[in-house]
Amino acid sequence: MSRVYNFSAGPAVLPEEVLREAADEMLDYRGTGMSVMEMSHRSKAYETIIKEAEADIRELMNIPDNYKVLFLQGGASQQFAMIPMNLMKNRKAAYIVTGQWAKKAFQEAKLYGEAVEVASSADKTFSYIPDCSDLDIPEDADYVYICENNTIYGTKFWKLPNTKGHTLVADVSSCFLSEPVDVTKYGVIYGGVQKNIGPAGVVIVIIREDLITEDVLPGTPTMLRYKIHADNGSLYNTPPAYGIYICGKVFKWIKKMGGLQAMKERNEKKAKILYDFLDESRLFRGTVRREDRSLMNVPFVTGSEELDAKFVKEAKEAGFENLKGHRTVGGMRASIYNAMPIEGVEKLVEFMKKFEAENA
Ligand SMILES: *Cc1c(COP(=O)(O)O)cnc(C)c1O
Repeated sequence: MSRVYNFSAGPAVLPEEVLREAADEMLDYRGTGMSVMEMSHRSKAYETIIKEAEADIRELMNIPDNYKVLFLQGGASQQFAMIPMNLMKNRKAAYIVTGQWAKKAFQEAKLYGEAVEVASSADKTFSYIPDCSDLDIPEDADYVYICENNTIYGTKFWKLPNTKGHTLVADVSSCFLSEPVDVTKYGVIYGGVQKNIGPAGVVIVIIREDLITEDVLPGTPTMLRYKIHADNGSLYNTPPAYGIYICGKVFKWIKKMGGLQAMKERNEKKAKILYDFLDESRLFRGTVRREDRSLMNVPFVTGSEELDAKFVKEAKEAGFENLKGHRTVGGMRASIYNAMPIEGVEKLVEFMKKFEAENA
């Protein structure tokens, strides 16, 4: 068996330890004689799995008691609709468009009410985070929406927008559990888990209780109401049971690694190795404004499409997978989530140096 360094933006690398543990438990989960995939979601064993998962993410993120943690399905994209359906009481919301995922959420919200674009960085291919200190937010907007870490473009909100008292809703898919977070600053924090936490399909929604009401847009399907899932402890119907089990293992791995502060320090260290090299390289350069750089997704280019393609190909041959940039932006992108070991980034930079010497 040989594992590659997987720089995929998602589904992405998971801690090897977690995968090994899951493999050990595959045929007989702790004496139950069955796999977690095969067991009732109403069983004692599964109840323990989902309860522990919730308790562990609460502990990691220091989630206050007046927030619910929901394990749902449909990925992050399902939330693009669920958020307006549940939160648009005045049928109006403000969107900050910093990339494709924010744009998709913005466009989806338009199906349900008046979605107002209050800031955008489209003018420079989303390579920066706009100044959000004094936005023109409609008085009656139900919420302000951001995509906190822009997976495709490699930007991150290092300062949250001034929402002027409005509820903040954030898609944190690609920076989930990468650093400590002050949950009280948000009304809703949500993310698809396949970037930093677990298998695709599961989406975790952390939502302040007062935002969970019966008062949703007419026609909102039962399955898309936060209240039904909150009232049923994420077990209204069969949840993505196996995915949640893996998420739970990743939470325990992060706890063992020292929690979110330790993750942040480790992530900063990893990203610095790559950014420092990009800043001094004669061949490669990063594409994002320095102060807005993500610790998770690092896009870079050589300036020549031909060399970019050559790099991606040779990197793959050397065991560095999925370095091709998103199809809409080209170039390269190294996603260096929590589970990417420091050696992975060190070895990538070594390889880039060698490629530079041969090609610059
Ligand atoms: C990947 C991603 C999504 C889409 O996630 P799905 O689970 O495929 O719907 C949404 N937002 C961000 C920031 C992402 O990185």
